[in-house]
Amino acid sequence: MNELITQTPRPGLAKTALLCLPMALLTFMMLSGGGGLPQSPPGMFALAVTYLGFNALFFLMLRTGITDRYRAVIFVTFSVAFVISFISHLIEARGTMALTSETMLAGGTPFCHMVIPMILIPLAFTKTVIFPGTIIGGFASISSMLVLWLGVSLAVGRGFCGWFCFFGGLEDGFSRIFKKPVIRNINLKWRWLPFGILGLVVVTAALTLSPTYCEWLCPFKAVTEFNAVTSTLVLVQTIIFVSLFIGLVIVLPLLTKRRTQCAAFCPFGAFQSLTNKLNVFEIRIDPASCTKCQRCIQACPVLSIDQKSLETGKPLFTCLKCGKCVDVCPNKAIRFHVKGTPLTHEPEIMRRLFLYPAFLILATMAGGNIQDAIVRIISFITTGSFIK
Ligand code: SF4
Ligand code: SF4
Repeated sequence: MNELITQTPRPGLAKTALLCLPMALLTFMMLSGGGGLPQSPPGMFALAVTYLGFNALFFLMLRTGITDRYRAVIFVTFSVAFVISFISHLIEARGTMALTSETMLAGGTPFCHMVIPMILIPLAFTKTVIFPGTIIGGFASISSMLVLWLGVSLAVGRGFCGWFCFFGGLEDGFSRIFKKPVIRNINLKWRWLPFGILGLVVVTAALTLSPTYCEWLCPFKAVTEFNAVTSTLVLVQTIIFVSLFIGLVIVLPLLTKRRTQCAAFCPFGAFQSLTNKLNVFEIRIDPASCTKCQRCIQACPVLSIDQKSLETGKPLFTCLKCGKCVDVCPNKAIRFHVKGTPLTHEPEIMRRLFLYPAFLILATMAGGNIQDAIVRIISFITTGSFIK
């Protein structure tokens, strides 16, 4: 974790508590699901831990002026909880993580946001969703994921990848394990590879009317679901996705302290970068305050800041809005910013304006998974099984 050197004036305890009040009320509504409090003791315990944890971290974000450290605690926890919860659900529903053709034909494949760039062209031209999932119902139905993606993209653009992607949190976690990077210098040209992969999967998906990225390249099948190995072709696909998971999600993040899958591979991340143009929040650098110390360049997990950014005052449009560069800058030269306002205008207020929607969406998306994972961990401790 990078050390923070900041001169941001801290709000007092009473002011911070007041600023946290709306979040305390909204997160309670979101976490309790509007359906009343859980009845079982593990359920009540999980709700209490999640609610208090989220609000303590939001309080710390506002009180300290630090964003990334507290974001990462929830983001990484969310990813681990998602894996526990998702696999347990699959095993409850099907008895296995393996996907069979019967399950696909029955529309029983949970939908994930990674598929979105591939379905849009076939949807426009053939009025068909080229994914064998459920349109309505299910714990990740196509319709709910599309609505969620659209809302989040309008609110925070590629902040989706920095705050809500349950896959990105795995790399984020691995990238924080070593104190210093073993591999320091990465060729910045790798930043363009995701756009090439995006073009490839969009074209091949449109031509074959099948989600080619899911079938051939998605590393996260290793922790969600995968085709049952019944042929040489599926064996090759399995070797590819397992290798990508080990290389891009575990080993390279450990060695580089970067989110290598997000920075140099993920086509959804490339697609989501384009939505950074649509929303009002951005990260800006004040060249007049910058001493070119390059800490931000070294810290950025997706290589979005380079020498040119320090001159122009803008990171690349691939920025995740994670706040890490804002936290590490010793001169407060980097800020969250609302487009159309002066760069000098109350940077802490700009940061808070971003934090409210970002944190609320994070709590909404992560809350259910974290509570479910806590209940399952209690079940594992008391009964020896994650299955309820
Ligand atoms: S530019 Fe800053 S906010 Fe954007 S991804 Fe890099 S470290 Fe995070
Ligand atoms: S923006 Fe801040 S962290 Fe980045 S080079 Fe300038 S002074 Fe250093």
